[in-house]
Amino acid sequence: MTQAKNKVVVFLGPPGAGKGTQAERLAAEQHLLKISTGDILRDHVQRGTELGQQVKPILDAGKLVPDDILIALIRDKLAGMDAVRVIFDGFPRTLPQAEGLDMLLEELGAPVNAVPLLEVPAEVLISRIVDRGKQAQAAGQAVRSDDTEEVARHRQDIYREQTQPLIDYYAARGHLYRVDGVGSMDQVYGRILDGMK
Ligand code: ADP
Repeated sequence: MTQAKNKVVVFLGPPGAGKGTQAERLAAEQHLLKISTGDILRDHVQRGTELGQQVKPILDAGKLVPDDILIALIRDKLAGMDAVRVIFDGFPRTLPQAEGLDMLLEELGAPVNAVPLLEVPAEVLISRIVDRGKQAQAAGQAVRSDDTEEVARHRQDIYREQTQPLIDYYAARGHLYRVDGVGSMDQVYGRILDGMK
């Protein structure tokens, strides 16, 4: 029953690096649950839940939702899992979130196994995000309110200030490996798998 074995992957990388797409494929191929905090929060906003109403202005501004809210969300998601087989996409984003996650995982006896860091040059990131917004609009799909150039730049600043310290946090624990995020989706995916061995 190798499939039931615990496995915890944390995807790190700036907004627009392609974490969501790569995490989705890895989740499908390795029978892992992808937990994307951005998707969860956007879903709350769309459904107009109490949490959604609370976080909507924060998402629209490209700021970070408070750590305690995120940690509670993740605690709920992990509760009752038999085998903890998950990929985190967009979480943790701050040191307190990383420490909170480690505490939750310790309770479950399922420590972090791998932390791929998707690296993409800053100038490529903004154009990817702005293109994503334009493509969604052209296809008649919902456009993320934070995929405008100004908010995208602000999200990059927050990444540099709040999330980059996690690189050292996970490197110190021996879990981090760097992945060149420029290339085709298949190429990048191959690099992610190579680093995981
Ligand atoms: P991206 O990586 O492109 O910025 P996400 O979908 O991961 O997009 O996140 C979108 C927004 O959701 C963030 O700008 C932030 O407002 C909120 N968010 C998502 N995850 C977190 C988190 N772990 N901590 C705080 N805020 C978060």
